[in-house]
Amino acid sequence: MATILDGKALAERARAEVKAEVAELGHPGLATILVGDDSASEIYIRRKHEAANEVGIRSNDIRLQADTSEDELLDQVAELNGDSSVQGILVQLPLPDHLDEAAVIRAIDPAKDVDGLHPLNAGLLYLGRPTLVPATPIGIMALLAAYDIELSGARAVVVGRSDIVGKPVSLLLLQANATVTICHSRTRDLERETLDADVLVVAAGHPALVTPDMVKHGSTVIDVGMNRTDAGLVGDVDAAAMDVAGHMTPVPGGVGPMTIASLLRNTVRAVRLQRLAFEFPPT
Ligand code: NAD
Repeated sequence: MATILDGKALAERARAEVKAEVAELGHPGLATILVGDDSASEIYIRRKHEAANEVGIRSNDIRLQADTSEDELLDQVAELNGDSSVQGILVQLPLPDHLDEAAVIRAIDPAKDVDGLHPLNAGLLYLGRPTLVPATPIGIMALLAAYDIELSGARAVVVGRSDIVGKPVSLLLLQANATVTICHSRTRDLERETLDADVLVVAAGHPALVTPDMVKHGSTVIDVGMNRTDAGLVGDVDAAAMDVAGHMTPVPGGVGPMTIASLLRNTVRAVRLQRLAFEFPPT
C-alpha cells in the first residue's frame, strides 16, 4: 500500500509560513477577475479568496459579465497593473470563447502575474530562471521534496501538456535532473510510457485514465485530475493504484490544497520581485 502524499497537511504548514511573511510584508493585495458565471470557476475563485483572507492577503474579487468585451477586460487589467495596492493579478481561465486568452494574459504586468502564464514568465521557466511559475507545478514539486522523492536521474512521465500543468511541471522535473517524457492525447501507447515511470504525473482531466496495471510497482504517482462525477470528486488515476505505487497523492487532499497554498506563495514572491525591481531597476 502506497504512502499517501498528504497535500492537505503540507499545505496547512505552507499557509502558516505564508501568513507570517504576509504580516511582515504589510498585507499585500491579490486581485482576481472572473468573467461569466461558470460554476467550477466560481468554486475555484471562492476557495482562492477564502485562503487569501485566512493568511492576511487582501483580496479583491472582480466579477465581469459573460458578454464583457475584450477592450473592457483589457482596461480592467491595465487598471490593476497601475494600482499600487495590488501586487498579484489572476484572470480565472477558461475565458468565454469571444475573448482571446493569450492577449489577456499578455496584458498582465509580468511582475504581478501570480499564475505564471505571461510569456515572459513562461520563457524564464524554459530558460531555467523561473520567477513566477504556475501554482500547481510548484505545489507538486513541493510535495515531492517534502517526501524526499528522488528526482535526479529518475524517469518522470507527465501525462498532459497544458500550459498551466503539463508543460511547466515537465520543465521543473527536467530542472531537477529527471529524464522526462511528456504524453498527450496523441500518444500511441500510453501504458508503455507510464509503466516506465519512477515518477508519474497525470493531468489529463479524464477519470481513471490511468489504471493500476499502468503503474510501475513502487513508483510515485501524482494525480492532478479533478473530475466531478456522480461518485463525487475523482482524479485521473484509479484509486486502486494505491496498491501498486510506493507513494501517491489522494484526490481530494493531494495536489488541490497545494495549488492554493502555492498561489499564496506566489503572491508573496510577486511582492518580493516588485520590491527588487524597485531597488535594482534594469539598467
Ligand atoms: P487541459 O484540458 O488543458 O489539458 C489536458 C491534457 O491532457 C492535454 O494536453 C491532452 O493532450 C492530455 N490528454 C487528454 N486525454 C488524454 C489521453 N487519453 N491520454 C493522454 N493524454 C491525454 O487540462 P489541465 O488544465 O492541464 O488540467 C488537467 C486536469 O487537472 C483536469 O482534471 C483539471 O481539473 C485538473 N487540475 C487540477 C488542479 C489542482 O489543483 N488539483 C489544477 C489544475 C488542473
